[in-house]
Amino acid sequence: MPFGYHGCYLRVDVSTGCSQRVPLLDAVMREYIGGSGLGARLLLDKNAAIVDPLSPEAPLIFAFSPLVGSPLTTSAKFAVVSKSPLTGRFNDSLASSGFAISGKRAGCDAIVIVGRALALSVLVIDDGDVRLEPAEDVRGDTCAVAEETLRARLGADYQIAAIGPAGERGVRYATISHDGRHAGRGGSGAVLGSKNIKAIAVRGTQRTEWAHPRELTDLSRDLSKRSFGPATAKYRELGTATNLLTFNRFGTLPTRNFQSGTFEEAESLSPEQLGVAHARTRASCVACTIGCEHIYSLGDKGVRLEYESLFALGSLCGVGDGDVVLRASRRCDELGIDTISTGGTIAFAMECVERGLLDAPWLQFGSGDAMMKAIELIGSREGIGDMLAEGSRRAAAIIGHDTIAFAPQVKGLEIPGYEPRGLQTMALGFAVGARGADHNRSGAYDVDFSDKVDRRNATLESVRHAIDTEDKAALMDSLILCKFLRRVLEDFHAESAAMLRAVTGWDVTADELRETAQRIVAAKRQFNLLAGWTLTEDTLPDRFLNTPLPDDPAASLSRERLQELVAEYHRQRGW
Ligand code: SF4
Repeated sequence: MPFGYHGCYLRVDVSTGCSQRVPLLDAVMREYIGGSGLGARLLLDKNAAIVDPLSPEAPLIFAFSPLVGSPLTTSAKFAVVSKSPLTGRFNDSLASSGFAISGKRAGCDAIVIVGRALALSVLVIDDGDVRLEPAEDVRGDTCAVAEETLRARLGADYQIAAIGPAGERGVRYATISHDGRHAGRGGSGAVLGSKNIKAIAVRGTQRTEWAHPRELTDLSRDLSKRSFGPATAKYRELGTATNLLTFNRFGTLPTRNFQSGTFEEAESLSPEQLGVAHARTRASCVACTIGCEHIYSLGDKGVRLEYESLFALGSLCGVGDGDVVLRASRRCDELGIDTISTGGTIAFAMECVERGLLDAPWLQFGSGDAMMKAIELIGSREGIGDMLAEGSRRAAAIIGHDTIAFAPQVKGLEIPGYEPRGLQTMALGFAVGARGADHNRSGAYDVDFSDKVDRRNATLESVRHAIDTEDKAALMDSLILCKFLRRVLEDFHAESAAMLRAVTGWDVTADELRETAQRIVAAKRQFNLLAGWTLTEDTLPDRFLNTPLPDDPAASLSRERLQELVAEYHRQRGW
């Protein structure tokens, strides 16, 4: 068995409470590494593509990696992998916290959960002891309250990942939260809720050894030092929210359900302005030397705010009041729902109301009260919230009138804060993404903002860049390392190989990792094929293909051009 691994995964059937440790083949570890890659392989092995994602037999996987627990900066991450109840396709969502370290110390490289508990329960994994305990007393509690209550009951040394009320109620974009961080996209919280599991509590004592500890220490020191350099300065100083004004300046800030790329109130949502009324402090994930998180004060508690939440609950819904956006973001965290899908679905409904296609006159663009009300209704699945809890694609099917043309989603996953018409390499990344429109699986916006392409006029040359960023993301999500390191690594594949060599002892090379990345992307596609994917899904909503961006007519992407790009993507992939 290679260093850095336990060489097994823990399979728990919560219907019976039975668990077993299942060996992992050395070849599987080397070919899929960990995180998203290992999760994809295990999902395929378990035929998860053909089951209802909310059925007892659907597996939900927490996958760690050989780097977890090492001194490498940003390596305390885990991936939650399943079939998505929102898209019906592959889903992997990642989070950073001590849950990764404790979960791995429980002596496994992944936890695979199947079944459905008879009553609401907490799954307790205490080294070799695996059991279910009642969780009825935390039913309806927010993620943080449930975590706190269960830790008080079980012991302070447990790390606890929990769902909020939305996960219990099957909101299709419910999250799994730990320590305020969320495995956020695609509805993994609904999958855990469907298993009648409110939380997973882990602690353990089993550490893995490193193949070359001295080399690993040297690499870690060097990486930590560089991670604190200019490549990450803007995230340390203002956080990801700093992107808001930049995107607004470029006309690529999605506004009022992607009807525009500029927001007249953007200035009031800038981190500088927000910081005036709401004192801002910095924070970081466990084992991270970058520290991109910014917490804004709001009442007696802070709110962690990222660009994606700021755009989705701000400009996308036409809301320019920073106080409201902070409150909305906090409420999404409490309920345990993905802010991007929440904002995207509400903005879609707001446009339906504006066009007279949905009878909810209170739900107006720009109304903070309406947005807050909609969030509550989604969390409780009451009234219109029951439909909105299904996401914009299903809501469009219910509303009809061809509203699917402007439902802001790809494969059912709501589009993040990058206007596709003005960022066309990113548009391709969104269209072909295995889990739908996703900025964490395609970082092609980096290319669009470089001088390598014309961001408003994608050519076949753009395809190679979209593939390259997708492959790199797949590798980072399997190693697992934070994406904010990507600009720190001067030779991405060679440095990644050096880290993996020092941890595992494998003679892995940069070229091998290039192949590994392609294999992982192909595994996600294989899952989707088995789940029923067809080429028609690799596209964007009609809005982006019929209409130039109103405030930037040069930002125009025709259906034919996108189809050419997608076809070339598939050709270069060899699919
Ligand atoms: S850079 Fe930010 S997101 Fe990444 S690990 Fe550090 S604090 Fe977490």
